[in-house]
Amino acid sequence: MADRVGFIGLGIMGSRMAANLARAGVPLTVHTRTREKAEAFAAEHDGVAVAVSPADLASGSDVVLTMVVDAAQVEQVLLGAQGVVRGDHDGLLCVDLSTIGARQVRRIATGLSARGVALVDAPVTGSAPKAEDGSLTIVAGGQRADFDRARPLLEIMGDLVVHAGALGHGQLLKLVNNAVAAANAVTLAEALLVADAAGADLDALEQVMGAGSGASAMLALKAESMREHDFSTLFKAAHMLKDVALCLDEAQSAGMPFEAAAHARSILTATVGRGHGESDFAALVEAVEGLAGRRLGA
Ligand code: NAP
Repeated sequence: MADRVGFIGLGIMGSRMAANLARAGVPLTVHTRTREKAEAFAAEHDGVAVAVSPADLASGSDVVLTMVVDAAQVEQVLLGAQGVVRGDHDGLLCVDLSTIGARQVRRIATGLSARGVALVDAPVTGSAPKAEDGSLTIVAGGQRADFDRARPLLEIMGDLVVHAGALGHGQLLKLVNNAVAAANAVTLAEALLVADAAGADLDALEQVMGAGSGASAMLALKAESMREHDFSTLFKAAHMLKDVALCLDEAQSAGMPFEAAAHARSILTATVGRGHGESDFAALVEAVEGLAGRRLGA
């Protein structure tokens, strides 16, 4: 019989990823902090049930997927008073899709293994559009047998599914990736300002960079939002700051410098400080503008 699946956290990413599982016919129960959001999701997707708590969801699921924000939230939904462990049973597997840091995953796994529950960390890259069309990259860490069990579900949500190694290694790869993305986004904002202040044609700049060695995913995804100052949220600035800070923790533990990530953390801290925590991280252009004393396109 197919695994019964529980999904916790129906935010920007989780709602879209769970929708792909539902469309693929996976037997699905959902839970999120705001009950009405879970009810609305179930009303929109045939055959989806709603659980009143993570414990309730776990008691009727073979595999529990979590897509919340940070380690504190994952800890609450897995190990808390109403958490998944309160509904644990033989063979229960947890797969955390959130980005929470490698040490944090290992700590939570210790709490779960005390109850005989296995954990795979499987953070994702790609934003809301890739979550929507099931083309995320998913990088997992954990026991091979646990990963193999989760894999068919991960392949419904992602195009590229990689087993990175031991528990926490999914997190490591994801954090390094996001720190590079954040650094590229800051570099892009700075480059746009330089070119703009010097009187360059920014359409031509984007065209030339896109065709050559200055190309990046950030150029393709964020240049227009930065130029338009359109910060409609695909990935919150506060969440990008979380990821860069987690990467710098790992860098420090490893005794390695990561100057570009440290600069990105400063710029993202200022972005959140300007009230843009819930905005898309393209809003970091405003922190760069603040330093430059000049508005892009002014
Ligand atoms: P989000 O929109 O803020 O969603 C977080 C969800 O977690 C919300 O639905 C929230 O419920 C739910 N939640 C929080 N605490 C809960 C609890 N105690 N019990 C049940 N549900 C709870 O965040 P997101 O953008 O989807 O990001 C989720 C994770 O994916 C983060 O770790 C982020 O770094 C990572 N990520 C995001 C992106 C992206 O582009 N957005 C891309 C890759 C990875 P309510 O809705 O009811 O408040």
